[in-house]
Amino acid sequence: CLPIVIILGRPNVGKSALFNRLIRRREALVYNTPDDHVTRDIREGVAKLGNLRFRVLDSAGLEAEASSGSILHRTASMTANVLGRAHFALFLTDARAGLHPLDQEVGKWLRKHAPQIKPIVCMNKSESFFDASGSLATAADEMSRLGFGDPIAISAETGLGMPDLYMSLRPLL
Ligand code: GDP
Ligand code: MG
Repeated sequence: CLPIVIILGRPNVGKSALFNRLIRRREALVYNTPDDHVTRDIREGVAKLGNLRFRVLDSAGLEAEASSGSILHRTASMTANVLGRAHFALFLTDARAGLHPLDQEVGKWLRKHAPQIKPIVCMNKSESFFDASGSLATAADEMSRLGFGDPIAISAETGLGMPDLYMSLRPLL
C-alpha cells in the first residue's frame, strides 16, 4: 500500500509528461470512468523518485471539466473515483504562461472537494527560464497567489527541479 499522489492541473501544463517521467518504463494501468458524456482515462503507475516510491495518478479526467468550463460542477465521479484515493497532490502550472484563470479554477475545485489535500504547486516548463531567473521569480510570485505556498520550478521534459520535487515530497511520504 504505497501512498497515492495525484497530478492535477489544467490541460496542457504537462501532467502526462511528468507522469511518464515518474514512472519511466514501468507499466501504467489505464482505466476509465464513464461519466455523463465523457469517458475519462485515468493512468496509474508506480513512481520512483530517488529512494521514494509512490503510486501516481494522471488525472486526465479533470481536463474535460476544465476545458468545458464546468470544472466546479461535474465532479462527483472524479471525487469518488480518483481524488478520494489520493493522499497528496502535485498541482501543475505552466511557468511560461504564468498564472492562468483555469489554474485558479483547479485550485477552487481542489479546496472544495479535497480540503484535506495541500498540494505542492509545480511550475512546469521552467527549463525555458534557465537564463532568465527574473522571469522565473515573477512566475513564482504569481503562482503563490494560488494560496498553496511557494511553488517549485520543474521541467517534466528535461528533469530540471526533480531534486526539489524530491525534497518537497520526502517529508510527506
Ligand atoms: P497535459 O495535458 O497536462 O497532460 O500535458 P502534456 O503532458 O500532454 O503536455 C502538453 C504539452 O506540453 C506537450 O506538447 C508537451 O510536450 C509539453 N511539455 C510538457 N512538459 C514540458 C516541459 O517541461 N517543458 C516544455 N517546454 N514543454 C513541456
Ligand atoms: Mg494529459
